[in-house]
Amino acid sequence: MDKNFLHTSIEYLKGVGPVKAEVLKNELGIFTFEDLINHFPFRYIDRTKIYTINEISEEMPFIQLKGIITNIKEIGIGKTKRLSGTFRDNTGEIEIVWFQHIKWIVKSIELNKVCVIFGKPSLFNNSYNIVHPEIEWTEDEKNTSKMQPVYSVTEKLKSHFLDSKGISKLIGNVINNPQFSAEETLPDYILNKNKFASRKISYKNIHAPTNNSEFTDGQNRFKYEELFFLNIKIASLKLKRNRTIKGFVFSKIDYFFNTFYKNYLPFSLTDAQKEVLKEIRANMATGKQMNRLLQGDVGSGKTIVALLSMLIAIDNQTQAVLMAPTEILALQHFENITKITSGLGLKTELLTGTTSKARKEKIIKSIFSGETEILIGTHALIEDDVIFKSLGIVVIDEQHRFGVAQRAKLWNKYDTKPHVLVMTATPIPRTLAMTVYGDLDVSKIGKLPSGRVPIKTVHRYENRRDEIFDFLRSEISKGRQVYYVFPLIEESEKSDFQNLVDGFENLKVVFGNFKYKLAMVHGRMKAKEKEAVMKLFKNGEINLLVSTTVIEVGVDVPNASVMVIENSERFGLSQLHQLRGRVGRGSKQSYCILLSSVKISNVAKERIKAMTQTNDGFEIANLDLKLRGPGDLLGVRQSGLLDLKIADIVKDEDILLKSRNDVIEILKNDPNLSQTQNIRIRNWLDNRKKTHGDWSRVS
Ligand code: ADP
Ligand code: MG
Repeated sequence: MDKNFLHTSIEYLKGVGPVKAEVLKNELGIFTFEDLINHFPFRYIDRTKIYTINEISEEMPFIQLKGIITNIKEIGIGKTKRLSGTFRDNTGEIEIVWFQHIKWIVKSIELNKVCVIFGKPSLFNNSYNIVHPEIEWTEDEKNTSKMQPVYSVTEKLKSHFLDSKGISKLIGNVINNPQFSAEETLPDYILNKNKFASRKISYKNIHAPTNNSEFTDGQNRFKYEELFFLNIKIASLKLKRNRTIKGFVFSKIDYFFNTFYKNYLPFSLTDAQKEVLKEIRANMATGKQMNRLLQGDVGSGKTIVALLSMLIAIDNQTQAVLMAPTEILALQHFENITKITSGLGLKTELLTGTTSKARKEKIIKSIFSGETEILIGTHALIEDDVIFKSLGIVVIDEQHRFGVAQRAKLWNKYDTKPHVLVMTATPIPRTLAMTVYGDLDVSKIGKLPSGRVPIKTVHRYENRRDEIFDFLRSEISKGRQVYYVFPLIEESEKSDFQNLVDGFENLKVVFGNFKYKLAMVHGRMKAKEKEAVMKLFKNGEINLLVSTTVIEVGVDVPNASVMVIENSERFGLSQLHQLRGRVGRGSKQSYCILLSSVKISNVAKERIKAMTQTNDGFEIANLDLKLRGPGDLLGVRQSGLLDLKIADIVKDEDILLKSRNDVIEILKNDPNLSQTQNIRIRNWLDNRKKTHGDWSRVS
């Protein structure tokens, strides 16, 4: 056995050479024998089973049939030219067709000789055919009695004979070599507990199984292994943070919190809000740095929880910062917070893109001296040159909008790290949260404040716009306000922008006659103009606000009760949910009207249907996850956490949970992984540190 065998450069593998090696490197990132065998098949074609023609049904995958080809002829000309034959077994006959390589195939076919054909049956003009079947003449028995792995390959690979079969052959050259061995990574007791085969056997099971259960065994082992080490990394990171990062000890609740709570709280807190606040208080009192994700559906009342947490920080002689993803939202927070805390004598400042240079300098000075207790702003501004005297808490609103590195930048400059509370209204399923934010603690406001009336959501085709206009008029005449959103996904998109402007002009004609006031807000406007419009809307001086998704997150105007979304088929599910969350914030019945063209895709239909069926952000998030996959959700992709080769944290949830429980158990008994039985885990981590550097933090 040679330990270095697997580290051999791929070009030295039998059947590779310098040209194919280059293609493997570029297309699949395969540099060594080890990389190659870690390129796992994603499914198998069962070539152990032979079907008969009368068994064929439409939903069949690739199948094989045994029989004879009774005739073959070229038909059609030019582009429609094809080769058509008849394949027959004891139970019937089926057409076989080729569109390419016709000359070569004609030559290779022997009529009336027994063969096995292999392909996917499809229904064409009411009868089945198989396009481009593979043919094996039955003397080649060795090939027909196998499970055939399917690997993902690219056109470039195929053009170098590295199709699924080619890859499989190369992998065979590695795992059938007498020098092949695979160092075990999991402790024996874990292998036994989960009934996993050794790593070496598992490679054979996954790449060259003789039946389906061998394949599943191999696949499960590698999925487990991948998720196990993902969980180990996350858990040890959390442990390390708890042990090494010093946090402020906020031991007292004092004047600011108590006075506010007693005298200025605009409403009584819901039980869910109280519960979360308790968790935050307890966390900040320990001396461990808080790193907490606060989940709560749109409108669940996260802002007040954030403010109370900030007041605790101020009670303990530190400063607080609140970051928002948009200027509109930062301004809203600033106005809301200065208003409700006006009796406390706090100094609160707002720092955004429109803050003048002179003003910014002044603010920076008063932050540095400690005179300003609360800073609210957009993330871009709260960076390098803003230095706090003593930063006790950072609250990040709508956290999924921030880059990972960007966030850490804010507090890395301080010796004692501030407590961090990140808030998101885009709930994500528990398992995903555990993985993506695994080193964060999670609090959840599970219930909306009472008295809310569920929003009514309907889907209407755009040819019924006039009815909608009538409805809007009746709502406006009752004193309610309306959001009217146009899709402008990329603010630079010219035709979208034109639609917005045309739409606005049209609405002015429709509603202007009734002396209703309309305004428009979009990303190309100057911040000052946006501000002015939002203020008028908030004060009820605008009846109908035409807008783009600039109002998507956070905006809070409780009197607005109708949300109309044009071309709703173009929005993502969580975006629709966010937009809808702008209404239903008061005690009145609110409505969300999703307009779409008549012809929309099935996926779009599903999204819109989901919106009309539920108001629950968690259900929406689950469905979104199914429709889009985890990679597109939130900042999951940028976190790099999901660069998984074989496991899928959604589909393999049971394996994820199993591995996670095992990891928790292991670290409970052996937090430093210093016991002999855990030496393989320790080695794996040390190795990884050498090759990948230290694991960067998530939040
Ligand atoms: P989100 O969680 O979406 O950020 P907000 O904090 O903006 O929600 O709160 C939504 C609305 O609900 C606001 O108008 C807020 O004043 C109100 N609100 C929050 N908590 C309560 C409560 N306990 N009782 C009544 N209204 C509340
Ligand atoms: Mg909010």
